Amino acid sequence: MTKHIFVTGGVVSSLGKGLTSASIGMLLEQRGLSVRMQKLDPYINVDPGTMSPYQHGEVYVLDDGSETDLDLGHYERFTHSPLTRDSNYTTGQIYLSVIEKERRGEYLGQTVQVIPHITNEIKSVIRKLAADDVDVVITEIGGTVGDIESQPFLEAIRQFSLDVGKENCLYIHLTLVPYLKAAGELKTKPTQHSVGLLRQIGIQPDILICRTERNLDREDRAKIALFCNVPVEAVIEEKDKDFSIYEVPLSLVHNALDELIVRKLNLPAGTLDLDDWRDLVHRLRNPKQEISIAVVGKYAEHRDAYKSIYEALDHAGVARQAQIRIQRIQSEHIEREGPERLLSGYDGILVPGGFGERGIEGKIDAICFARERGVPFFGICLGMQCAVIEFGRNVIGLTGAHSTEFDKDSPHPVICLLDEQKAITDKGGTMRLGSHPARLAPDSHAAAAYGRQLIHERHRHRYEFNNVYRQQYLANGMQAVGTSPSGELVEIVELPDHPWFVAVQFHPEFKSKPTAPHPLFAGFIGAAIDKHNARGERAKEKEVETP
Ligand code: GLN
Repeated sequence: MTKHIFVTGGVVSSLGKGLTSASIGMLLEQRGLSVRMQKLDPYINVDPGTMSPYQHGEVYVLDDGSETDLDLGHYERFTHSPLTRDSNYTTGQIYLSVIEKERRGEYLGQTVQVIPHITNEIKSVIRKLAADDVDVVITEIGGTVGDIESQPFLEAIRQFSLDVGKENCLYIHLTLVPYLKAAGELKTKPTQHSVGLLRQIGIQPDILICRTERNLDREDRAKIALFCNVPVEAVIEEKDKDFSIYEVPLSLVHNALDELIVRKLNLPAGTLDLDDWRDLVHRLRNPKQEISIAVVGKYAEHRDAYKSIYEALDHAGVARQAQIRIQRIQSEHIEREGPERLLSGYDGILVPGGFGERGIEGKIDAICFARERGVPFFGICLGMQCAVIEFGRNVIGLTGAHSTEFDKDSPHPVICLLDEQKAITDKGGTMRLGSHPARLAPDSHAAAAYGRQLIHERHRHRYEFNNVYRQQYLANGMQAVGTSPSGELVEIVELPDHPWFVAVQFHPEFKSKPTAPHPLFAGFIGAAIDKHNARGERAKEKEVETP
């Protein structure tokens, strides 16, 4: 029988529930268990696909084309749990499905209510992940206990243990134990209140994971245990990591969390094998060199807007034992101050995906700078489209070349709407989404990086390279080295004469893992390291020349 773990959060948001859930999933997998991960989000949008990155950070795309919460990125980076549309539900989706059932007359004249209809719907989406070959389903509840909109989810998970038996459910509550400088001590009261709120609705947490900036001593733990009605051993410290998120699972193991979960749920677990993970953290902690990468985007000031890209850069760095110093640069600033001032000295430049016109010219200037100076360049989605515009304008001489997303009347619409998009008016879930195959040209940077010629990558876009211009680009030195298998859609462009200038229509960042970096990120970072080292050699030579 599948066991269920529910992870809730209290006191404040942004405690790292996603990371903690992913870490728990990873630890259970490393004990030989089969795990499924799921996130339930209390907001009313049907999915985060239409939400601004300022509000919600990155939209994480799955193979099946669902647009999901960025916590699912942590799940995929930490575990092997297959993620699908069933791995992320929102209040909006739950209500939509209940309302559609009501319209179809499926409730046979009943009054449709939050309890039991909405809560039944929530329980049914949790049950979807249980199966004979699944040992544990970990369901993370978004938001913070006490939020009005979380109530139906908490009520549903309370009922869930009545349905499947208390012994098959485990409630883990992530909370904050703040340090008050003035008092010189850690404060447990917010945790007591948060657990109090949970108990009011009938959930007694089994385990408390306490985020803290200082170590919890025996007394703190005893106090939390007594007031929150849990055994002392179930008060787990999760100290802030100033180093890397990939240390979180190790610190949870240090506090015996995996042992406790296995025992409480009576899981058929083996011994823990963390060799690969420890090796990863060791490499992260002991880089042999440091290189610097500029990420030039519209939402650069927002930490979570390009989350998977930052992670994928780190993964590629770990593989080469190089620390990546990532500088987030707002493309609008390049428009004001010029690329020379803001981009000189970096070992690589990456332009990520995005929507909307703001900052476009800054991205184009950054790409021109990378192309002309031989700086390794990696363009992703909108970053590729900007690379095509830049090359059209500055190399081929197509004055006014643009994407029709930004200039409907461009004399040279080198990027234009995909045919399949022309009749679409709804915004939600209607882009070209999810995994699609592509074929690579054998002698390309891309094929060398992947080591194969057929790839599958995830997409999220409405616009594409305009094939009317393909010959002209080829004649001038920009090659389409990756296309859809029919050859119709351009998926990768490259400049063969440049040390590394690769731009892709898809989102490789979603498939990178800390223990298996994505080949294109590895290739890009490899080129950036070469550039860095060549610069170092040149500097040394100069020193010798000028005694
Ligand atoms: N706005 C562009 C398009 O829709 C790029 C999308 C993206 O970067 N994800 O095609």
